Parts: sequence; C-alpha cells; structure tokens
Amino acid sequence: MSIYVCPHCGKKSFNPVTKAMAGQLNSHGKPCKECGRLCVNGKAATAFNAVFALICFVLVVLTYLKAPDIDWLYPIEKRVVLGLILAIFIVPRIANAFFFKMEPAIRIELKR
Ligand SMILES: [Zn+2]
Repeated sequence: MSIYVCPHCGKKSFNPVTKAMAGQLNSHGKPCKECGRLCVNGKAATAFNAVFALICFVLVVLTYLKAPDIDWLYPIEKRVVLGLILAIFIVPRIANAFFFKMEPAIRIELKR
C-alpha cells in the first residue's frame, strides 16, 4: 500500500510535499484533499525524528567539545555544527516525504 494514502478514507490524496508538511504525531496535521480529515506522519516517523535529532544534538556537543583537539575538525567546526543543526530540521522532512505511513491526527480527537 502506498504511504501517500489517507488513513481515514483510503484515497491516495497526499504527495511527498504535502506529506512532508503534515508533521508528526505531536503536530496539528494536514487535511486530506478527499475527506478533509487531518492526517500526520505516524509513530515510526515520530520515533525516527526523535532519534535523529538526539544523535545530531550529541554530535553538535561532541564537535563543540572535541574540535580543538582534532586537527582536521577544528578549522571546519562552525560549518559542521551549522550543518548538523540544519540536518535536524531538513532530514526528518525528507524522511517524512518518502518513508513512513500516514496516520490519523490524534491531537484533534483528544479535544472532542
Ligand atoms: Zn481522506
């Protein structure tokens, strides 16, 4: 089954761009074009994002602490840190665009 299928109505109403914009379980979600109900990227996407952000954060701290002792790293320290911070924001969106299944947005259902 396609990962761009709406979990509410089963129609293939998302594409990589709209799926990337839908966010994860903790976000508001994007409405399906067919049925209008909100969808987000599911548990696997949320877990991946959390793990990925944690790894990048650890690498940022390590780079900051260790760069003065590592000859090849020291001159590019700022660029490495900047790249890692950008990756925290960009890589999960790319992953959301091309991997993981959509799930119903749970935040809305909790309010009802
Ligand atoms: Zn739908």
